Order: sequence, then C-alpha cells, then structure tokens
Amino acid sequence: MQKKRVVFNYPSHLVDQPVISKMIKDFDLVVNILRARITPKEEGRLVLEITGKKSSLDAGFKYLSEIGVEIQPLAQDVKWHEDRCTHCTACISICPTKALDVKRAHMEVSFNRDKCIACELCLPVCPYQAMEILF
Ligand code: SF4
Ligand code: SF4
Repeated sequence: MQKKRVVFNYPSHLVDQPVISKMIKDFDLVVNILRARITPKEEGRLVLEITGKKSSLDAGFKYLSEIGVEIQPLAQDVKWHEDRCTHCTACISICPTKALDVKRAHMEVSFNRDKCIACELCLPVCPYQAMEILF
C-alpha cells in the first residue's frame, strides 16, 4: 500500500463531476480530502491524501490525466522560508501533524513537507511570514 499527498487542479467543466467517487469505486482507492476550494476562475483545487496499491494509484492517476485533471505533489505548494524563520517556535504547538517541529536541545525549528497537510494554521501565527501556501 502507498499513501500520497497530492493537489488536484480541475478544469471548470469537471468541478461538478463525480471524479472522487470514481477514484474510490473504480480504482479501489481510499481518498481523504484535506482541503477543497474553487478558484476565482471556477477551477477546482483539492488537497488529497490517497491510499491504495501502487497499481491502483497509477491507474487512477492515469484516468485523471486523461480527463484533464492536473496532479502535483503537495510538497510543491507548501514552502517554509527558512531564511525568514527566527525559530521563535510560535507555530510548533499549532501544527496538527508535527510537520513543524523543534529540537528542544538547540531550539531549532524544522519543517517536514511529507507531514504537512496544508491546513494553513501556521500562517496567521508566524510573525515573519516564513510559511507560504501557494493556493
Ligand atoms: S500548513 Fe498545517 S500541517 Fe502544514 S506546517 Fe502549517 S500547521 Fe503544519
Ligand atoms: S512561527 Fe514562523 S518564524 Fe516562528 S518558528 Fe514558526 S516558521 Fe519560524
């Protein structure tokens, strides 16, 4: 089994189509929607965690590409600007997945993209705009 965190970009004509239910029923995938929004151009943006066999994931992603859904890894859309981070730790207790964490011995903050679910909770608490989410 594999687990992937991805961002789907839907063209406007697919926004009301049952794409996610097809992923679940036809490709035997477990789909957890982490975030969803419609952009001002009426395109859909979904942040998803998808779990399934590698062959099912490959087949599901192939189907999506064929119908015009763009897929990108979530990591591309979340940025920690390390140069702006002062290691103040204000974000540590708010991050639900420990994507932002601190090594107490040195009070050094680090960011693990693989754990981030793009919930945006860290954005308003960071005094230095060190976290950026590009959607
Ligand atoms: S977006 Fe959410 S999960 Fe990601 S680092 Fe910020 S608080 Fe943590
Ligand atoms: S709140 Fe911002 S500056 Fe402070 S540790 Fe977190 S990312 Fe760095």
